[in-house]
Amino acid sequence: MENTKITITIIYDNTAWDKNLVSDWGFACLINVSGKSILFDTGANPDILLANMKDLKIDPSSVDDIFISHHHWDHTGGLATFLTANPVPVYSPVDFEIPGQKAQVSTCKKLQKIHERIWSTGILDNTEQSLLIEQDGQVTVVAGCSHPGIEKIFNAARPLGKISALIGGLHGFHHFELIKDIDWVCPTHCTQYINKIRSLCPDKFIEGGAGKVIVL
Ligand SMILES: [Zn+2]
Ligand SMILES: [Zn+2]
Repeated sequence: MENTKITITIIYDNTAWDKNLVSDWGFACLINVSGKSILFDTGANPDILLANMKDLKIDPSSVDDIFISHHHWDHTGGLATFLTANPVPVYSPVDFEIPGQKAQVSTCKKLQKIHERIWSTGILDNTEQSLLIEQDGQVTVVAGCSHPGIEKIFNAARPLGKISALIGGLHGFHHFELIKDIDWVCPTHCTQYINKIRSLCPDKFIEGGAGKVIVL
């Protein structure tokens, strides 16, 4: 029987949900779906990334792939160090090379399936891709900084189903009507209007921060 459970664990974030973890500007989370373990972004500082993983009892060697939302320092800072220890395939919105690294890089140009139930929106606005998780005709969107804007990201995700959840950095997102029909939202990292989102939709608001574990 298919294991339909989805687990999203925030490893690196501007705030700490679990006070034993280090908070720092940046974002990384681990996504476990259908037996795959995907590291979404790598934070800013490799030491913090690895220390928080250790505290969360996430073994780096258990990671199957890395998904880089976009090439900003606060999302790629841990990448080179992580790949040195564990040279897993990398899904990136643009071509790039890390000197001395042999990790295989796949560039996601458009909506593309990565694994069973896991997709990339493909690069949007020449900067960023978001990760999409399918579950019974519904889609959970995982965003790094949402530089292309939530409307564009949702439009790219919609072919997979109804958008039911949103987690990640939402930057200056303020078109709040876009999230009125989703089941839950976890605005974190660079999101400017976290308190506004919390007050507008307290029933669907999930607080982020390093150490937060969301099981669907
Ligand atoms: Zn960014
Ligand atoms: Zn960022």
